[in-house]
Amino acid sequence: MTKLIFLGAPGAGKGTQAQILSENLGIPHISTGEILRNAIAVETPLGIKAKSYVDNGDLVPDELILDLIKERLGQEDALGGWILDGFPRNVPQADFLSNLLQELNQVCNGVINFDVPDHVLLERLLSRGRKDDNEATISNRLQVYHQQTAPLIDYYEKHQLLINVNGDRELSQISEELETIVKS
Ligand code: AMP
Repeated sequence: MTKLIFLGAPGAGKGTQAQILSENLGIPHISTGEILRNAIAVETPLGIKAKSYVDNGDLVPDELILDLIKERLGQEDALGGWILDGFPRNVPQADFLSNLLQELNQVCNGVINFDVPDHVLLERLLSRGRKDDNEATISNRLQVYHQQTAPLIDYYEKHQLLINVNGDRELSQISEELETIVKS
């Protein structure tokens, strides 16, 4: 499996695991959150538009993300595989991705859902110290996750792509399980 979506709440550990697995598999780790944070740091037009949403823990409007993903997945290094981390984040984004992959003649091999209870997410986010990891923003991000992103669990279950992973374990245990899954 080389075309994977990592799904999970903020703090579920998907970024860390995506980083490790993408290095092992030699495929790009595509994190929309990271792309946005970089754009904000260097104040590109995208960054300027996205800043207030990211600071508040809201999703940025789909139109800011969809072109960006289309361009990124069309790049040479993404032809052989990718790990999408933080995209899709709602049903319209998932529908867009499914059409885009058809256009590109690609298929997603699996959607890894990192399952972590809310109280563990809270603890992790509070200790992480990223700019959007303050208490008010965190509670909004968890709410946004439950309202807009969690429906994708059913969505991908119906598409028979969902693979649930218990994300409330040691980092190395999770990476080992992911290695086994991608080799299967
Ligand atoms: P992340 O690093 O994935 O937690 O994303 C950080 C922030 O970037 C989120 O709280 C959103 O404001 C924004 N963001 C990242 N990915 C998306 C996306 N696919 N759609 C909308 N907003 C996003």
